[in-house]
Amino acid sequence: MALNLTQEHIDRMQAHAEQAYPHEGCGLLVGRFDATTDEKTLVNLTLLDNAWTKDVAADLADQTHSAAVPQTKARRYWIDPKDLFETQRQARQDGLAIIGVYHSHPDAAAVPSGCDRDLAWPSYAYIIVSVRHGTAVDLQNWQLDGHHQFQPEPMKITPASAAKDRMPLLSS
Ligand SMILES: [Zn+2]
Repeated sequence: MALNLTQEHIDRMQAHAEQAYPHEGCGLLVGRFDATTDEKTLVNLTLLDNAWTKDVAADLADQTHSAAVPQTKARRYWIDPKDLFETQRQARQDGLAIIGVYHSHPDAAAVPSGCDRDLAWPSYAYIIVSVRHGTAVDLQNWQLDGHHQFQPEPMKITPASAAKDRMPLLSS
C-alpha cells in the first residue's frame, strides 16, 4: 500500500491549510486505485471550503451519539455534499475516482482524531497537515486497517521538476 503524489500536491495542500488557519482546511484527492500494486495515485487535488456548521454538528451528534465532540471549524471539517457530488461527477468524466481526503489540524499533530476515524472510509487515503501558529509543519498520510484503525500509509513523492516533465504525457 502506498500513495503516489507530487511535491506540488504537497505544497498546495500545505498552502491551503495555512490559508484556512485557524480553521481546519479540507479537500478531496482524485486519482486512480491500482488493484495490481495496491497503490493509489493522486492526479487532481480539489481544495474546498470547510463546510462545518452547527447544523452539521447537530446532525452528526444525533447519528453518532457523540455530543461531546468539539463543535467548531477549528476542530472539525465537513465537506459539502454538493462539492463531493461535483468532484465525483468530474472525476468519473475524467476516468478517475475519489481516492481520499485531505484536512488540516490547526495547532495539533498530523494524527487522526477519534472523529476522523468514526467518519473514515476503508481504502481511502487520509492526508493530515499539521499547522502550528499559521505554518504547515508536518504532513502525514493514513489509511484504515481491517480493524477500522488508522495506520500510516507510505507516500511516494515525485519531485516537482520531474512531475513537470511528465505533464505533456498526462494531458495527451
Ligand atoms: Zn482531523
